Amino acid sequence: MDYELGDAAQALRVRLRELIAQEIPPGFLGAFSANPDDLALTQAFCKTLADEGLLCLAWPTEYGGGGGSVWEQTVVREEMWAHHEPRGAQYMGVNWVGPALMRHGTDEQRAKHLPAISAGEVIWCQGFSEPEAGTDLASLRTRAVLDDDGWLISGQKVWTSYALMAQWCVLAACTDPAAKSNERLTLFIVPMDREGIEVRPIASMLGPHHLNEVFLDSVRVTEADVLGKVGAGWKVMRDALAYERVGIARYARCESLLSRLQDALVADGLWDALAPALKSRWVRALISLRVARLLAYKAIAQQNEGIDPAAAAAARIVTTTCDQTVAELLLEAAGAASLDAGPDAPIHGAIDDHWRYAQAATVSSGTIEVQRILVARSVLGSSR
Ligand SMILES: Cc1cc2nc3c(=O)[nH]c(=O)nc-3n(C[C@H](O)[C@H](O)[C@H](O)COP(=O)(O)OP(=O)(O)OC[C@H]3O[C@@H](n4cnc5c(N)ncnc54)[C@H](O)[C@@H]3O)c2cc1C
Repeated sequence: MDYELGDAAQALRVRLRELIAQEIPPGFLGAFSANPDDLALTQAFCKTLADEGLLCLAWPTEYGGGGGSVWEQTVVREEMWAHHEPRGAQYMGVNWVGPALMRHGTDEQRAKHLPAISAGEVIWCQGFSEPEAGTDLASLRTRAVLDDDGWLISGQKVWTSYALMAQWCVLAACTDPAAKSNERLTLFIVPMDREGIEVRPIASMLGPHHLNEVFLDSVRVTEADVLGKVGAGWKVMRDALAYERVGIARYARCESLLSRLQDALVADGLWDALAPALKSRWVRALISLRVARLLAYKAIAQQNEGIDPAAAAAARIVTTTCDQTVAELLLEAAGAASLDAGPDAPIHGAIDDHWRYAQAATVSSGTIEVQRILVARSVLGSSR
């Protein structure tokens, strides 16, 4: 297995690293921060990538993409996560909103939204989860009611990442409470500045990660804003979540942090003094990260025909488990200094940031228990 994906991929990695070194300060940790300077930096970087056709590298050129392969896009994703995601909150648009629009959108929706995403001009958020419906999305209660002027949507969303900085949301609402569970929901494309939408940030231990509640009070959308067919939201969401689950290459970030900390410990003469048991956990973590990468590649290999949700779940389980194993390992190896990071010790700040985010990794994008159920059903059959 060639983990580096060949010479062309290596050349692409070199180019991406050059761009990151030119535009992103060392030790950057502002991917999802509310700081306007971080937002401006990530937006400018997206424009740079877009100008070189690299932001949506695997998209068709007619939508402003680079016409490349899913493997080239994988290289972009890995380099971005290895450098703390300098695209900021872009990856939702790039990884799943764009593909969902290509597969389920109308010509008008594609023409309006895809060029804006591939140019790095817009941020999207995902309005699926609600206070009583996270895993069990089919039971969500936000209601969309049809009248003579289109749809009126009322309800509440929670844990909506980036809602405060997003211009657009893919919002799930119930359009027929009496229908079967897989026919109750419809997806809507909603502008976040529409009257009746209120966003309230949620303070959390995740550091700068941007979590929010979104309240919707008689928000007006038209029939042209439905993504896919009315009542077919569940199918689109299933696809979207599979794309999202393989779209976040956190294994690349774990590998990069382990490598940076090893370099720092060697430079300070501390590497040899690490306990043998810790070093053997280090090796096991590196092997698990290779497994995570391979499982992601397995799901990506199917991407052109549509990702199998069970393959995406398997990749997600191993990646998020690695996130947490590596978080503990880094913290232990770096010691208490990593919790007291200053600007002169960027690796320690990155370890602290990684540890916080890793705690939520087995919940976001579907909990690990539910991912395991998805894999079990695909192995045993859905009747078990
Ligand atoms: C950092 C972060 C970012 C997020 N961003 C977004 C976002 O942008 N948009 C969005 O819509 N949502 C987002 N979420 C929400 C996330 O998708 C939900 O938190 C997740 O799906 C779990 O739902 P829940 O919190 O309602 O927990 P629940 O579904 O209530 O689960 C509680 C516990 O019960 C278990 N459980 C539930 N059902 C089953 C079952 N059938 N079998 C076995 N165990 C079960 C779960 O595994 C879990 O341990 C985010 C969450 C986090 C942490």
